[in-house]
Amino acid sequence: MGAPAFAPVPKFQSTFSFVLKLDSRLMHNPRLTTIEAGYLAGKRPRTAGSNARLPEHGINIREPFVRLRFEDGSSGFGFSRLTKEQANALLGQPLDSLISLETGVSARSRSINFPLWDALGQRMNQPVYQLVGKQIDANQPFTVPCYDTSLYFDDLHLTDDKAAVELIVSEAQAGYERGHRAFKIKVGRGALHMPLVEGTFRDIAIIRGVREAVGAGLPIMIDANNGYNVNLVKWVLTETADCEIYWLEEAFHEDRVLYEGLHQWLDEQQLPVLIADGEGQASPTLMNWTQAGVIDVVQYDLRDEGFDFWIKTGQQLDTWGAKSAPHNYGSCFGNYATCHLASAIEQFTFVEWDQIDLVGLDSSGYAIQDGRVHVPNRAGFGLRLDESVFEGSVKSEGFVVS
Ligand SMILES: [Mg+2]
Repeated sequence: MGAPAFAPVPKFQSTFSFVLKLDSRLMHNPRLTTIEAGYLAGKRPRTAGSNARLPEHGINIREPFVRLRFEDGSSGFGFSRLTKEQANALLGQPLDSLISLETGVSARSRSINFPLWDALGQRMNQPVYQLVGKQIDANQPFTVPCYDTSLYFDDLHLTDDKAAVELIVSEAQAGYERGHRAFKIKVGRGALHMPLVEGTFRDIAIIRGVREAVGAGLPIMIDANNGYNVNLVKWVLTETADCEIYWLEEAFHEDRVLYEGLHQWLDEQQLPVLIADGEGQASPTLMNWTQAGVIDVVQYDLRDEGFDFWIKTGQQLDTWGAKSAPHNYGSCFGNYATCHLASAIEQFTFVEWDQIDLVGLDSSGYAIQDGRVHVPNRAGFGLRLDESVFEGSVKSEGFVVS
């Protein structure tokens, strides 16, 4: 990362063109004068069913957003669960006490980490991926691999496995038509929603059906939401050994002894399936186990942990040769923010893409093509708020402090 945005231009960089690129406002350190909080609501393309442990996830999504305004007229917005009490404590703070390019968002302003990164990008007229990224060529389109995370248990009403396979395959095809070239399939039907043996047979049939439908070479992941045990994993992975499963996510609650044994078994079977874990209430020793090679892909939640946490964590994982895959299910904003995070992490795998359209959020600069998100070369996160929608929500269900 470079120098703080609001620091004087260092002498060695003071070429005329560089100075011209900087906005004159960057020479100041404005105070945060207004915080607006509201919600944006929207829908998925279809209702999302159960997973191994939860009931139906539904079609409606509502996400909290915060907009920050500074005394010089600059602003930024993004996902935030900020409370009014927290907002009052942040009001009047100078920008450099909230965020800097060198150190990121300060501990006191962690709850507004996304709006602050957007504000910094707006002030510098740079996309966030440029601010945090490593060797990003500003003249090349910036794209990031993504996967379709929508293949839930939408088949539980069907008694026939063949019909169930056809339904999930049709959903994978819909994802393919939206530009996806990688797919995550929920498994663990036998943990709760179906009898154990029948549910496991159906998991296997669906994995095989989706692989057959999408063809060889495209990444397929499976996610058991802790609904398997070691023997079920061995059963499913044996029956799908020719399906090129890229990662197995949350097979069971992470356990070093069980995962070490599973790794050994995978080696013996010559199955190159990665072990992914870390969303939800992850083990406090998850990172130690990852450093030891027990977990291959780490999946802490992006919104819960924040942008700065993930930059640091992803870069730490890079040094261990482990992979990053931030959890993002349930968030439209996170689809876009994860793309920018990817620029800072060498072993970043995929954006978990939960297709959601929020009314009032203009994300038209983004597009999915051939399995990659094309990220707009626009300031901040490259998103725009519809003023009437957001301000309406701020008035009716949110708050303003200034
Ligand atoms: Mg998961």
